[in-house]
Amino acid sequence: MEKIQMKTPLVEMDGDEMTRILWQYIKDELLTPFIDLNTEYYDLGLEYRDKTNDQVTVDAAEATKKYGVAVKCATITANAARVKEYGLKEMWKSPNGTIRAILDGTVFRSPIVVKGIEPCVKNWKKPITLARHAYGDVYKNAELRIPGAGEVKLVYTPADGSPEETLSVHVFEGPGVVQGQYNLDDSIENFAKSCFEYALETKQDLWFATKDTVSKKYDHRFKDIFAEIYEASYKERFQAAGIEYFYTLIDDAVARVMKAEGGFIWACKNYDGDVMSDMVSSAFGSLAMMTSVLVSPNGYYEYEAAHGTVQRHYYKHLKGEETSTNSVATIFAWSGALRKRGELDGNQELAAFADKLEKATIDTIEGGKMTKDLALMTTLPNPTVLNSRDFILAIREKLEAML
Ligand code: NAP
Ligand code: MG
Repeated sequence: MEKIQMKTPLVEMDGDEMTRILWQYIKDELLTPFIDLNTEYYDLGLEYRDKTNDQVTVDAAEATKKYGVAVKCATITANAARVKEYGLKEMWKSPNGTIRAILDGTVFRSPIVVKGIEPCVKNWKKPITLARHAYGDVYKNAELRIPGAGEVKLVYTPADGSPEETLSVHVFEGPGVVQGQYNLDDSIENFAKSCFEYALETKQDLWFATKDTVSKKYDHRFKDIFAEIYEASYKERFQAAGIEYFYTLIDDAVARVMKAEGGFIWACKNYDGDVMSDMVSSAFGSLAMMTSVLVSPNGYYEYEAAHGTVQRHYYKHLKGEETSTNSVATIFAWSGALRKRGELDGNQELAAFADKLEKATIDTIEGGKMTKDLALMTTLPNPTVLNSRDFILAIREKLEAML
């Protein structure tokens, strides 16, 4: 069989610990035997980030701007313990944070749904993709502990010298707390565009919700921006694609999500997204079955697994013990990126390969072969538990039969 050719390189960002081990297995067993893999390789493993003073992360993000599509392995976010463990020069920032700051995107997380791993919510039949606006609000707030009686005011001092605006927040008679939050039209607009684009691309309805009835200026601004952009640029394209934009109040959205079948994108404000993404992902079964894609308003895509580097398994692996680490989300990061690359290059063979790789993975699990994390929660009788490598080899067998 001739290997599939790739026109444009895919930006490949290698990572850390157990996921770095899986990364190599996936390339060796599921990709390079079938594809003449054309990637521009960036080593985002912590050692090399330290060696390059984190320049490699910036270079990888810039390369993503150049080529448009990247696939990323999970990476360690350095903390005090990691600085010691790796003898780091500095506590480097989270690579995902750095990349997001450069690409300015929204992260969409979706569960991989397979028979035998049933969501806790029995009516969820299709994935619910969660989009979190990862900028501002309570995450960039200013807070004060109020020790006793006194007034707190909001003051806006225009840069152009026009008169100040002042608003009383509260007249305290005793101790309390106060918080200031902000967001930017620019950031909300980019969030909205990323959401509308991704809905069109994946042909799914888009839901968005805020608390605009209570927050008549702040949350209302989010509602208005989404509505304006939808009317101006997306309404007709949504109609043509047969999908809907649906706005409601956040509490109504939560109630409807629990009764829904799934198969839509749920766009959330920063805090709602933080909380709801954990609820949705745990209800769908496992973090190891969650994919994540960063979509920039400029049309750049970065695919990855939602979980971390699975440190505990890595230490077992280093001791020579057998591991059964789930590679599904990392495989889907590759298939997502390869499909996107295929679509952008008009390379149907590559896009078709991505579909087959996903099908082979799902068929393997539905056929009863899986890693330990899934075996512990499957409804399939007598699952076969495979180690990290054998699970990938089982997928290869299915894939070869399909090609
Ligand atoms: P984690 O790597 O997601 O793993 C937490 C636990 O979840 C594991 O110990 C394991 O449970 C289970 N798990 C996660 N993924 C699994 C998989 N693929 N297969 C089987 N089980 C899986 O989170 P963490 O241990 O808190 O973080 C480790 C490192 O990852 C940290 O340095 C953190 O900074 C980094 N991180 C990176 C990203 C990213 O790059 N996107 C995201 C999150 C965290 P059991 O041990 O019970 O088997
Ligand atoms: Mg959270």
